[in-house]
Amino acid sequence: MGQVIPIANASRLESSDAAFTFIDECYERLGQLPGFIVRDGQVELSRQVCRAMVADEPIAAEAPTGTGKTIAYLVGAIAASEKLRTTKEVPVVIATATVGLQTQIMQGDLPTLVKARIVQSERDAVVAKGRGRYFCVNSAERISNQGDAENQFDFFDQGSNENVDVSVDVKSMLDHWRGGAWNGDVDSYPDKTPGSWKEVAAKSETCLGHKCEFHSECPFLASRRVLSEAKIIVANHDLVLADLAMAKESPTDALFPGGRYLLVFDEAHHLPDKAIDVGSANLVLDDCVANLGRMAGFSKGWQRKGELVRLFEKAKLSAHDFDTGGLVNGLAGLKDSLSTITVEPETNQYRFPAGKLDTSVLKAATHALDHARLLQESIKEASAALKKTNLPEKSPELKGPIGELLYQCAFFGSQLSSIVKGLELFSAPDRAVRWVFKGGTPEVASIHVSPLEGADVLRRLLWDSERAIVAMVSATLQDFDGFDRFRARVGVGDVLRTMKLDPIFPYRNNTIELIDMKYSPRQDEREKYIEELQLNMPANIDASEGTLILFPSRSLMNALLPTLNKHFGNAVLAQGDLGIKELIHEHKDRIDRGRGSILCGLATMAEGLDLPGAYCVNVIICAIPFAVPTSPVEQELAEVLGKEYFAQRAMPDALTKLIQMVGRLMRRESDRGRIVVFDKRLIYTQWGRKMLEALPGFRKRSMPALRLPRPVAVK
Ligand code: SF4
Repeated sequence: MGQVIPIANASRLESSDAAFTFIDECYERLGQLPGFIVRDGQVELSRQVCRAMVADEPIAAEAPTGTGKTIAYLVGAIAASEKLRTTKEVPVVIATATVGLQTQIMQGDLPTLVKARIVQSERDAVVAKGRGRYFCVNSAERISNQGDAENQFDFFDQGSNENVDVSVDVKSMLDHWRGGAWNGDVDSYPDKTPGSWKEVAAKSETCLGHKCEFHSECPFLASRRVLSEAKIIVANHDLVLADLAMAKESPTDALFPGGRYLLVFDEAHHLPDKAIDVGSANLVLDDCVANLGRMAGFSKGWQRKGELVRLFEKAKLSAHDFDTGGLVNGLAGLKDSLSTITVEPETNQYRFPAGKLDTSVLKAATHALDHARLLQESIKEASAALKKTNLPEKSPELKGPIGELLYQCAFFGSQLSSIVKGLELFSAPDRAVRWVFKGGTPEVASIHVSPLEGADVLRRLLWDSERAIVAMVSATLQDFDGFDRFRARVGVGDVLRTMKLDPIFPYRNNTIELIDMKYSPRQDEREKYIEELQLNMPANIDASEGTLILFPSRSLMNALLPTLNKHFGNAVLAQGDLGIKELIHEHKDRIDRGRGSILCGLATMAEGLDLPGAYCVNVIICAIPFAVPTSPVEQELAEVLGKEYFAQRAMPDALTKLIQMVGRLMRRESDRGRIVVFDKRLIYTQWGRKMLEALPGFRKRSMPALRLPRPVAVK
């Protein structure tokens, strides 16, 4: 193996030209690898990503399947990283929406870059996982010690989960960890994941940080040290957005190291919806009250130790400051204020018109918020006093109780910050979607709030922040108006550079067959449509081949499965019968053994599923995947956009999904097969034909449907 390209010499990349020379050299090496085909579009994408990142300007690139976009943006970002590096590394962070893509990057693309000597070693890249995937030794010790009379502090009301069974489970995890048989990453636990994992998973709310006696050996902190050494970090969208939010609120707690990084969002068409999730909050009022109940012993505990009483007095804190009564009553008052609200019977939800709360609800929420803020402040002050004190050095017997108090402060502090955030967003005057849920036996009530769009969230986290320089890449970013809608939904404005790579697959070799059905999937024709589908679908399947059927809803899949089972028996595999991983494994195994297999799936299988060659020669699409506007956010959007909702929201969203669906057929340049669509709206409506035109360049033809027998006239 030859030398790694000397990218350590940053002076080579002083100008864009030098960076481009570096990129050209990368492709020269890649081109020497057996089977690697360098494509012009790929080189251009690398250059554009590098150029935009060096100029600190966001870029969005649409790159169809097969263009080699992952290698392209990796090479571009690595070149930019070298160009921007001073004394400090500027790491590259890749954010994906699916685990499948992370696996492909780590097992496919990175080894290729290592073979081409562009990346030194596979150890230069790591997968970043959320905190909750790591073992919190302190929590485990705490639970484990609860059975040990000598170590019981009798300070707090314990949660119902912390029982003897949990303790046995936790002791076994501690043994594995102490014995060196396990590194504390739940994904590498030598046994199946213990049932009590959530009790011992690391959480920011209960982490004691430097005050933790296991700080130096903590699995989570060890993983963060590995991250700080990495040149390339592979993470998911949620984790990256959490890092960006954390970096704003508390920079020292940010998940990723360093001040700045180069960020590539792959599968970026998910980003606007991910941002909506980040800006949302919900509170189950009854759960909040139950958790506050666990605080009852907090003051009782520290009041039993004279030194701790004096410590709290010095901090001007009294038992009264930790009295949860005001907040509990406030939350009960909020629940009472919802009692006159009538929820929709199908969803048990009620959406406040235009996001404006009724006066009584607003008053109750504001009242509860005032109490929550006071309590939160007291816990913060208690925590600060406990962290500062040197009592454990003077009186070692206080080390345990103080550790326990800090743990409780962290736990309740986190509970309170969720309550404060939820109530703040719920009672804020801004334009957001607000709704309540009431249901169950006994009845529980929850409050919910969500932004209509994620643009403001991304503006705050990405565009108005210095932390990340961003590239967004996907096979489906554009719609009928090019990049305009994506640009607006991510809130980036005109500064966004855009580019589109031409498709390289010979789509014309394959056909989309549009079955000329008499009925459409519309609600008013649904029954007849299902009957017609039951007649026509089996006639379009060859049971000896690999087929993927994509259903827009579980109810439609359930309506068709009896027919498919009757015609094809064991050849049918349906999502839900097995986990998706097992299902795909079984499907491939059958094809490998020369048998046919018919895989039936829902939306989750319409994206990211890689079934090349014989694994999938028929893709059957039942209907255009329109979202049913049942969620409060979608309903409000429909109201706000009025007549424009269909053109501005429903149709572009459905087009993105439809492109993903037809994209399941061709995974490699040589793939051959056909796509069959049972939705006549693509033939007969103007907007349907517009959608058809926007699909990749398959040959398209309409095919006659088998006709349902006419009902026999009864004389
Ligand atoms: S440092 Fe935090 S996460 Fe790690 S063991 Fe201690 S409390 Fe748990």
